[in-house]
Amino acid sequence: MNHQKSEQAYQQAQQYIPGGVNSPVRAFQSVEISPVFVQRAKGSHLWDIDGNEYIDYICSWGPMILGHSHPMMQQGALEAIDAGISFGLPTLREVEMAKIITSAYPAAEMVRMVNSGTEATMSAIRVARGYTGRDKIVKFEGCYHGHSDGLLVKAGSGALTYGVPTSPGVPEDITRHTLVCRYNDIESVKETFSANENQIAAIILEPIAGNMGVIPAKKEFLQQLRELCNKTGAVLIFDEVISGFRVGFGGAAQQYGIFPDMVCFGKIIGAGMPVGAYGGKKEIMEWVSPKGPVYQAGTLSGNPLAMFMGLKQLGYLEQHSEIYQQLEQTGQKLQEGIQTILNRHQLPYQVQRAGSLCCIFFTEKPVLCYDDAMTCDTELFKIYFREMLAQGVLVAPSQFEAMFVSVAHTERDLEQTFVAMDKAFAAVKAAQGN
Ligand SMILES: *Cc1c(COP(=O)(O)O)cnc(C)c1O
Repeated sequence: MNHQKSEQAYQQAQQYIPGGVNSPVRAFQSVEISPVFVQRAKGSHLWDIDGNEYIDYICSWGPMILGHSHPMMQQGALEAIDAGISFGLPTLREVEMAKIITSAYPAAEMVRMVNSGTEATMSAIRVARGYTGRDKIVKFEGCYHGHSDGLLVKAGSGALTYGVPTSPGVPEDITRHTLVCRYNDIESVKETFSANENQIAAIILEPIAGNMGVIPAKKEFLQQLRELCNKTGAVLIFDEVISGFRVGFGGAAQQYGIFPDMVCFGKIIGAGMPVGAYGGKKEIMEWVSPKGPVYQAGTLSGNPLAMFMGLKQLGYLEQHSEIYQQLEQTGQKLQEGIQTILNRHQLPYQVQRAGSLCCIFFTEKPVLCYDDAMTCDTELFKIYFREMLAQGVLVAPSQFEAMFVSVAHTERDLEQTFVAMDKAFAAVKAAQGN
């Protein structure tokens, strides 16, 4: 497979854009090759600028749940553009969008549209702080909530220390308000609450973690967080930017039957446009400006074109609930196929899945938290990734990202994927112990 044009494009991009990309994971740094530059995509397939074709398991990191360039999604888009793409004044589509989100997700009685997942979590936290009059928040190591200052934090050394910045440019004065606990470990949260009594505004987490590989929370863990928040008055925030409208129309909350006080969305709700949203109980959301005193705004928030695309996708998903069964079946077949191949090569790796999100952890250890994920062999992942790419299967260029399956992924796609995987794992096996 020839990547000459992509390599040239990457050289050029690096002169004008830091690292040549507008979001770090796109640089393929952890697999140490040049990224592929995309020409176009249709359904489950994607073509790079060298003309190579791939089965795409990145799917724009989640939004393209119906596959690329779905004919229904294209319909009407030109008319929407023709009517004008931004006014800075309210439109009916924003009301429709709020209605569909709140009806799908009853814990969100009201919702505010923003332009990214990052903005959604950042704003939700501000509101939770305003509402509770408290400053500290709890997050979990390995959960990703976008790149706002207070969330670029890892656990400090020692059990009860404050979070420390994971990036230069983030002041410790900010991250000291972020307390970092261990995912799926309720004791770590209880200890943190005891040490910070009446100071914690919110717990924020991905109820199905999708940014340290795929790690569904244990149900009892979510239950215990819910109880802890009820008891202490802290606001429970589910970051459903990945899981929302993917694991089911009602997100992870509906799957688990455990409901947060606030929720953040992104990815699927924008159908590929830059969209996010946060919502919650009316009592909390009424703190948002201009109704309430917590300021939050956006020139392009609720953008008419973005709302048009988002509404179309959500409307389609609402009317075709069988899609979620199909995604579950495809996800299950994928998982079983991977497991069979791993068994054949006697590789004791973990395959973890939540609906159409799937992940192969290159470790023998079941993965329940960030520390477990860190036991993965990323060198062997690199070999696997490159072999898959060479055979026309595009998986995320990182051990710690999910495979995204869309409605467009066919039986035939899966079969081709398994053929490629068989060879890729043979290469991994051969490299093991070298
Ligand atoms: C992608 C993601 C975000 C950030 O969303 P952006 O649109 O990239 O800012 C936040 N939280 C989770 C769980 C995500 O997966």
